[in-house]
Amino acid sequence: MSLLPVKEAQRRLIALAPPAASEELPLHACAGRILAETVRARRDQPSADLSAMDGYAVRAADGDGPWRLTGESAAGAAPSARPLPPGAAMRIFTGAPLPPGADCIILQETVAVEADMVRLTEPCEIRPGHHVRTKANDFALGETLFEAGRRLDARAIALAALAGHDRLSVYRKPRVAILSTGNELARPGETLRQGQIPASNGLMLRAMIEQAGGEVISELILPDDLPVITQALRAVGQKSGGADIIVTCGGASVGDHDLVRPAIEAAGGAIDFWKIRMRPGKPLIAGTVRDALLLGLPGNPVSAFVTGLLFLLPLVRHMSGDAAPFPALLSRRLAVPLPAGGERDDYMRAVCVGADGVKPLRPQDSAQLSALFRADCLLLRPAGSLAANAGELVQVLPLA
Ligand code: AMP
Ligand code: MG
Repeated sequence: MSLLPVKEAQRRLIALAPPAASEELPLHACAGRILAETVRARRDQPSADLSAMDGYAVRAADGDGPWRLTGESAAGAAPSARPLPPGAAMRIFTGAPLPPGADCIILQETVAVEADMVRLTEPCEIRPGHHVRTKANDFALGETLFEAGRRLDARAIALAALAGHDRLSVYRKPRVAILSTGNELARPGETLRQGQIPASNGLMLRAMIEQAGGEVISELILPDDLPVITQALRAVGQKSGGADIIVTCGGASVGDHDLVRPAIEAAGGAIDFWKIRMRPGKPLIAGTVRDALLLGLPGNPVSAFVTGLLFLLPLVRHMSGDAAPFPALLSRRLAVPLPAGGERDDYMRAVCVGADGVKPLRPQDSAQLSALFRADCLLLRPAGSLAANAGELVQVLPLA
C-alpha cells in the first residue's frame, strides 16, 4: 500500500464522518458549543427610551429651564402613562424609562433644586437624545444576532440571554471512546511491574479531545490480544450509547503484536486508509466499526500527539460543527540551515526564536515526550524538501 499524503488523508477522514448532530441546551450549558441555528432577537433592547445617567428628564424644546419638578422614574419602573408637561422636569435614574414627551437628560451634578424648581448651575448641553439610550439602539426585535456556525463564548451567551432566549440549538459533542492497546501498559499511578509503562497516551488524548469540544465516554487499556480488542471495538461501536469516534492507540503498525487492523476486520469493520506519508505517525489507520468512525493512532507518544493534532482534533471539531476544523499553519524563518527533507512530511519538534524565527530541537527522537513538551511548535518539512538556508521561510504549526 503506498503512503497517503497528509492532506488527502485528512480530506478522506472528514468525508467519512457523518454530519454534526444538534441538540437544544439551556444557555448555561452552551459555552464553547457551536450554534446550529440562526439566532434572532426576541425583544427590543432597550425596550423603551431609557436614561443613561442620574439626573432630570426634560423636553429639549424647553431650552435652559428652569423646570417644575414633576414625579420620578427609577430603573425597573414602567414608563409613565402621562406625558411630561411642557416646562416640567422628572427626576430620573440610570436605566429608568423616560416619560412620553421627554427627550433629553440633564445631569444631576449640573442643577440645583429649590422649592420644586430645577435650575441649571452651569451651562449645559440641551438637545434631543442627550444622555438617552433610545429604544432598540442595541438590537431590535427580529434582528439577526448570530448565524449558525458561530462558537458560543461568554459574550454570545450574554447577548442571547438579553435577547430573550433561554435555550439554543447547538451541535452535539461527539462521543469518543479511547482504547489504548499494549501488553506493557499500566494505568497511570499503578505500581509498575517489570517491563510496564504508564499508559500516558490515554490521558493526553482525553485532554486533547475535551479541549476540541468532544466528550470522552470511555477510556480502556487493553492487552495485545485479538479477541479482547475485537470485542472492545464491537462494544463501543454500537449505536445505543456507543461512541461516534473510536480512537485506538498503539498496535497500528506491522509487528506481530500490532492487532488493531485485524481486530477492526474481525469486528466487522472496514479500513478506509492506512499509512500516511508523514513522520512521525506513518501507521495511522482510519475506518469504521459498526456505527462509529475509527481512528487508529500509533502508540509512540510523540506520534500519537502529532497524529492526534492533525487528524483526531480536526475530526472532533468537524463533528462538533466547526466548519474550519484544521489547525492553521504560520510562516516563520529558519534560524538555522536544514539538510534536505526525507520521503515523508516531517513534523519536527521546534521552538520559535526572536520575532519570526524557528529552530528544530535536537535530537528529533520521536519517542522523546520531554522534547515534545519543550517544543512550542511543529516545523513542517514537506516530503522532498531541498536543503534550506537560515532565513528561508518555512511553515510551522503552533502548539500553544
Ligand atoms: P506501538 O504503536 O504499539 O508499537 O507502540 C509504540 C511505542 O509506544 C511503544 O514503545 C509503546 O510502549 C509506546 N506506547 C504504546 N501505547 C502507549 C500509551 N498508551 N502510552 C504511552 N506509551 C505508549
Ligand atoms: Mg504495541
